[in-house]
Amino acid sequence: MSTKKKVIIIGGGAAGFFTAINAKELNPDLDITILEKGKDTLQKVKISGGGRCNVTHACFEPKELVKHYPRGEKELLGPFHQFMTGDTFEWFDNHQVPLKIEEDNRVFPEANTSQAIIDCFTHLTEKLKIKVATSQNVIDITNENDSWEVITKNESYQCDFLVIAAGSSKKIWELVEKLNHKVIPPVPSLFTFNIKDPRIIDLGGISVPNASVKIAKTKLENSGPLLITHWGLSGPAILKLSAHGARVLAEKNYQYNVIVNWLGMDTDAVAEALTNFKQEFSKKQIHLRSPFTDLPRRLWERLLNASKISTKANWADLSNKQLSNLSTQLTQGLFNANGRTTFKDEFVTAGGIDLKEINFKRFESKIHKNLFIVGEVLNIDAVTGGFNFQNAWTGGYICAQSIANS
Ligand SMILES: Cc1cc2nc3c(=O)[nH]c(=O)nc-3n(C[C@H](O)[C@H](O)[C@H](O)COP(=O)(O)OP(=O)(O)OC[C@H]3O[C@@H](n4cnc5c(N)ncnc54)[C@H](O)[C@@H]3O)c2cc1C
Repeated sequence: MSTKKKVIIIGGGAAGFFTAINAKELNPDLDITILEKGKDTLQKVKISGGGRCNVTHACFEPKELVKHYPRGEKELLGPFHQFMTGDTFEWFDNHQVPLKIEEDNRVFPEANTSQAIIDCFTHLTEKLKIKVATSQNVIDITNENDSWEVITKNESYQCDFLVIAAGSSKKIWELVEKLNHKVIPPVPSLFTFNIKDPRIIDLGGISVPNASVKIAKTKLENSGPLLITHWGLSGPAILKLSAHGARVLAEKNYQYNVIVNWLGMDTDAVAEALTNFKQEFSKKQIHLRSPFTDLPRRLWERLLNASKISTKANWADLSNKQLSNLSTQLTQGLFNANGRTTFKDEFVTAGGIDLKEINFKRFESKIHKNLFIVGEVLNIDAVTGGFNFQNAWTGGYICAQSIANS
């Protein structure tokens, strides 16, 4: 009879494959099987990053890196000291997939295609003799005397170590709840705000580099580039806000007021700049010249309209009231959001297995010995930029190490 320890991994995605490969590299005696419900594995990796796979982010300080995780910030700090972005670079480089850093610090395979990651993982699973069973939809999990049984529609599997790496899966969350784990209900993260407003209608494609955006009556606030789309507002400032506010905004049923500061400047400083400009360019038409070079002219004209200022007026014609209205429009414009739109199909879920019940030194359940949980199935998610995969690599590696050394 074989004495090899058996490992079953539920989920043939990024986290599942990374766990399997590392566990087997660290301990060749393990007998590892990946169970995947689909006909194909690694389907999300394939479509990720617009087909190029944004593998990680060039941020090499654990304390800085964790700030990109609205859920998981506290818990990932320790794990990032064990395996983080620099290790990801090294790992892929050692496995013949060199990575490159782009201008915005996102990291992609040098080959510029997600297929490079899929080929690497497929080649390694074959070489290491990791079994990959597709069309294996897991429908039940039971545990007796520290041994696990995993039931799919047509098979049953026994194992010593069970790894759950099933991503955002309603069925698996139900099974995990049956094992007495708490699941935080899922809500969407990373979305753009639907806004119909005369100030931005038909301005799709226009952006400003340094806006700040707040959700009225909450503490939610963010800054960065802001993009007007055909549906409303998007860009890094909005996406970050949607991730940090995922649960609060869901509770509001995606209906709330957004306060936009198009310049990211203090209202008093803007009022002063407007007054000085009025004095200096009193005879110039107001719509032709603005003190704010970063503000696109079409948007400037809309904000003049909203401040009840004729675009034909000269700067000298502006009353103090109009100047005050204009500085309010520029720095505290109120917009009514109604609904959300998924960002580039990059559907990310906030919610999942409660982090309080996980030992992050091993990515192991605190409730059941030899039950490991990694990747998006946990209540961890990040803003866009490669951070979600980094969570899968970090959890996968640490879990693999724990199993290999058990
Ligand atoms: C369009 C898109 C683009 C993205 N681009 C990026 C990007 O460029 N960079 C980035 O960092 N993040 C990106 N993300 C997020 C990233 O893809 C995920 O965070 C990551 O894939 C999570 O990996 P995972 O292995 O935990 O889950 P998944 O990749 O979702 O894998 C889970 C696997 O488990 C299987 N499974 C589920 N239930 C069962 C069951 N009952 N039985 C058996 N198998 C089951 C699923 O079929 C799936 O194959 C993107 C997401 C999307 C949707």
